[in-house]
Amino acid sequence: MHHHPYNRKPITVFSFFFLIYHIPQPIEARNPSQFTIKPSRHNVNIPEIKRHLHRFGYLQRNNNNVSFEQALSRYQKNLGLPITGKPDSDTLSHVRLPRCGFPDDVDSKTPPFHTKQKYVYFPGRPRWTRDDNIPLQLTYAFSQENLTPYLTPTQIRRVFRHAFAKWASVIPVSFVETEDYDTADIKIGFFAGDHGDGEPFDGVLGVLAHTFSPENGRLHLDKAETWAVDFHEEKSTVAVDLESVAVHEIGHVLGLGHSSAKDAAMYPTLKPRSKKVDLNVDDVVGVQSLYGTNPNFNLSGLLASETSTNLAADGKLVRSEGMIYSTLSTLFVLGFLNL
Ligand SMILES: [Zn+2]
Ligand SMILES: [Zn+2]
Repeated sequence: MHHHPYNRKPITVFSFFFLIYHIPQPIEARNPSQFTIKPSRHNVNIPEIKRHLHRFGYLQRNNNNVSFEQALSRYQKNLGLPITGKPDSDTLSHVRLPRCGFPDDVDSKTPPFHTKQKYVYFPGRPRWTRDDNIPLQLTYAFSQENLTPYLTPTQIRRVFRHAFAKWASVIPVSFVETEDYDTADIKIGFFAGDHGDGEPFDGVLGVLAHTFSPENGRLHLDKAETWAVDFHEEKSTVAVDLESVAVHEIGHVLGLGHSSAKDAAMYPTLKPRSKKVDLNVDDVVGVQSLYGTNPNFNLSGLLASETSTNLAADGKLVRSEGMIYSTLSTLFVLGFLNL
């Protein structure tokens, strides 16, 4: 069971069988200028949206129980968009963003108590456990044959050290790099196209990475991406920030699904040339309810920092959207869960 990726588990009615998903995207969908230009109402592309809903499990070819409008509404809900059930331009612009290959939690039930939590788990809430190892220590290793030509091994290792440290700072789990790829808990590599796990990568942008649920530990990045650690050095318009994707995929390694909170690390999409390397309150509360709290972690410090402004990758000052809502909703969940 542990060797099956989440999206092949026959657990839900949506069987996530989109293994042959190489959906040819029109060239313009990959042109980064599309990520900044909002399409007008007149060029909303319904077939493109339908392909995307099929690809990420919202629509099934053999299941007519879900209408396009219902599937679209669920997609909009999962991405924190206005729920119109209509293929509006806002929805299309999200369909065109590069994203994680993991399906969104299309089968999620309404959480109890009408909580506003936005994080989700995999079915059965799998997590890593070690009876003889408290606090929990997980090892990780890189596949030496499967790295990226854009970065040196030293750069890759530094990025992942930082990304693991973000999660380790909030839960009582430590991550230790090892040379031994075969025995490591978490196995990291860059792979191109079909790489033998039934989830072929799709080339530049589109799907950026995917990870398997606990306790599988495989973390795969699409080798076709222009992986970057510094946008001043890497000028490509399709460059993808490695640390942002690493932080997100480690969340999956630990057992978190996708969040609908746009400023969460676990939100499914990431624009080229943008960074999102910090955990937000939604990510923290989600992972802490799986593993407990790192005694050195101070949630009120995080709440305070989320009310400050962030310096975006392009140097413009931006304010995190939805931050007040996120803070309130988390406190609400805290109250119920007694954390
Ligand atoms: Zn993901
Ligand atoms: Zn893979």
